[in-house]
Amino acid sequence: MGETNSENKKKTAREIIENYNGPKVRIMEVCGTHTHEIFRLGIRKLLPEQVELISGPGCPVCVTPVSFIDEAIYLALEKGVTICTFGDLVRVPGTKMSLAGAREQGAKIHIVYSPADAEKYAKEHPEEQVTFLSVGFETTTPAGCLSVKAAKEDGLDNYSLLVANKTMPQAYEALKGSADVFLYPGHVNAITGTRLCEALTEEGVSGVVAGFTARELMTALAVSLVKFQEGKPFFVNCYPRVVTQDGSKEAQVLVDEMMEACDSEWRGLGVIPASGMKLRPEWQNFDARIKYQMPKIEGKPNPACRCGDVLQGKCKPSDCKVFGKGCTPQHPVGACMVSGEGACSAYYQYS
Ligand code: SF4
Repeated sequence: MGETNSENKKKTAREIIENYNGPKVRIMEVCGTHTHEIFRLGIRKLLPEQVELISGPGCPVCVTPVSFIDEAIYLALEKGVTICTFGDLVRVPGTKMSLAGAREQGAKIHIVYSPADAEKYAKEHPEEQVTFLSVGFETTTPAGCLSVKAAKEDGLDNYSLLVANKTMPQAYEALKGSADVFLYPGHVNAITGTRLCEALTEEGVSGVVAGFTARELMTALAVSLVKFQEGKPFFVNCYPRVVTQDGSKEAQVLVDEMMEACDSEWRGLGVIPASGMKLRPEWQNFDARIKYQMPKIEGKPNPACRCGDVLQGKCKPSDCKVFGKGCTPQHPVGACMVSGEGACSAYYQYS
């Protein structure tokens, strides 16, 4: 067993990590940005062999299922809708093609940097029907809501959202047994607060909220290792300069006013009850699925792709047979190799 708390207090985070001699521990980087930063900063090289870092489901593009890409392609090709989207989503393979492939067949795909840009585009192009692909977690949902509010204020009837926004708490529940410690994504907790993560300790789930600088990540890992050795479930907020217990009330009120929970499909995890968001009935004129009477679309991922297992920490990207061969950032087979936050792209880039 490792050392006592008072002995650890005298050590730097780096010393605690490098000299860890406690039991084997699996720490899940829930957030794709954490995965990339830990690689980029060389922190993995400091870890003793009994500390295993595994990737989790916190990359918005990666967890968005194939069926969502197929829905967007349906709107673009069958309904003639202009799709506004973040750039990452354009190369994610759908069942038959990606949005980039649809563009080659005449689909209008416009890259934007925010939902506000998409609403602006719709305002400037009243002759086009415009749909923004709204993906992501608690951090991005408020901006989508604000764009719908702006569209209403601007009197637009040519703007809508195709919503695949998700909420993290239900994913933590679904992944309960996958890791010993969760490295919670600080930017999500900045919105949600920490109460839920604190409550999860009662179900035996341990975790720390981590920031994104080298110091913040090292501190979060060191705290995880020290607390893990104490042998009981724990929660520590290691990002207090940004994360509070209550989170952002303003963002929570806005989202609650405009959206409600719904069941949602996650790549690899399947449908998780009440883990998604959709616009409330009073805003349904801006809901692309209702506006265009979207048929039920079942997406089929490439059978060679193990993104689903990667996102649950069941395998490493390098365990996938096509990693670095058939699947590269230039020719991605799955979403985890496309996204700048994807685990496969991080492994490809840094390992
Ligand atoms: Fe999917 Fe490519 Fe990752 Fe394999 S390497 S899991 S095909 S994204």
